[in-house]
Amino acid sequence: MTQPTVGSSERPLRVAVVGAGPSGFYVIQSLLKADDVAVAVDLFDRLPAPYGLVRYGVAPDHQKIKNVTKVYDRLAADERVRFFGGIEIGKDLTVDELRSHYDALVLCTGAQTDRQLGIPGEDLAGSHAATEFVAWYNGHPDYEHCTFDLDCERAVVVGIGNVALDVARILLRTPAELMETDIAGYAFEALKKSRIREVVVLGRRGPAQAAFSPREIKELGEMEAADARTVAEEVALDPLSQEDMEASTDRSVVKNCEVVATYAAAPAEPKPKTMWIRFCVSPTALIGDHAGRVQSVEIVHNVLERRPNGSLGAVAGDVTETIEAGLVFRSVGYRGVPVPGVPFREDWGTIPHEEGRVEPGLYASGWIKRGPSGVIGTNRPDAQESVRALLADHAAGKLTAATEPLEGIERILRERGARWIDFPTWQKLDEIELARGEAVGRPRDKLISREEMFDAAEQAESKS
Ligand code: NAP
Repeated sequence: MTQPTVGSSERPLRVAVVGAGPSGFYVIQSLLKADDVAVAVDLFDRLPAPYGLVRYGVAPDHQKIKNVTKVYDRLAADERVRFFGGIEIGKDLTVDELRSHYDALVLCTGAQTDRQLGIPGEDLAGSHAATEFVAWYNGHPDYEHCTFDLDCERAVVVGIGNVALDVARILLRTPAELMETDIAGYAFEALKKSRIREVVVLGRRGPAQAAFSPREIKELGEMEAADARTVAEEVALDPLSQEDMEASTDRSVVKNCEVVATYAAAPAEPKPKTMWIRFCVSPTALIGDHAGRVQSVEIVHNVLERRPNGSLGAVAGDVTETIEAGLVFRSVGYRGVPVPGVPFREDWGTIPHEEGRVEPGLYASGWIKRGPSGVIGTNRPDAQESVRALLADHAAGKLTAATEPLEGIERILRERGARWIDFPTWQKLDEIELARGEAVGRPRDKLISREEMFDAAEQAESKS
């Protein structure tokens, strides 16, 4: 008997997508649009809930950005797509098992950990990765039990990207502002009692090199109880930055510089809290008290110098300062972690690839492919590129067809006692979260732990 052709409606091209964040969904979107190729896609995520960084990374006071999940919901509800929430590749299933059950595998595992500063005192109590704080306030099940000392008056955030601004803003939001968010219930309670009055954000280069975007820096001027402030001498552009800005066509740099300049003027009616955005300063050490808790940050003022590649780099000068702070967050970028059985570039924290192809049958997309850069929408063209490589390999007959029947995946998982959330079940959990939110006057009250999610899923199942 002849076997049906792979990619036909009798035998669709089977693809496993690992990671249900934005890049995973954009990969699915591209696959479902493929001309003349029938596809069947299984989407795996180690967490029971879908959406990855949209649920666990995007700041809770950026609710509008989270509306993008409506697009993802339509994709997940497509009959060609199945969701396996709570299944970890490398633990519940191996990459080899996926490769024998699917014709192709696309890794969209993002960047799950943080980068280090490499300065003395970095490991003191009270010094944290911003990624931890972000995951905690967003109700990521692995970070629920983290603790942050919000009993001090000043926090320092190192780095000046959008994540640093998210962290600083959330630390200064009022309870009324947080009511408008889907922040984790425990984080809401902890932040309500916070004594933090001042957050100092440290940028090692100048405003013309800052990694934040205009909308995010402008938003700081609209906080209910906190003023955004800058130091006049630090926002005045040096000749090299001025030269670059004049030569650049990037409007966002000009906008950023204009906005931070407005923050240099002291407000006529100061609000009770302040966010200082400092430029051309680097932390050189975190100093601890006798109990090993961070109590201050030593910083050095930098000067900007032209690097061989033409960009401007920060070089330490002679002026130093000490900032007293009981809490320090390093927000200097995320980093990918290896997937067991898949090549990995330790120096970049990404999977080596060419246009998304690791090798025929194995692809990468999103942050694990290009590193932690860009906004959610950046993942769309990135996913299109990876799917183009996958479909080209399929068309060229370079894919090794799955040797095992698709049902085998569920059988293996059941044999291993693994539990997972499928998409219809997730939709019930979503309704539960919205209803819990409505009951407390917030847009959503998240279910946090895996147990809580599986229990709620069972209860919802028994009611239906
Ligand atoms: P990022 O944009 O890469 O910013 C990292 C920051 O850390 C930069 O200011 C960088 O300065 C600084 N840095 C790196 N090493 C340092 C060191 N050793 N000492 C001091 N500073 C150091 O990273 P991110 O903020 O984590 O954001 C990740 C991505 O997510 C970005 O593309 C961001 O735009 C995106 N995102 C977007 C939004 C939004 O759209 N609202 C929200 C959150 C995140 P240098 O420039 O000098 O290297």
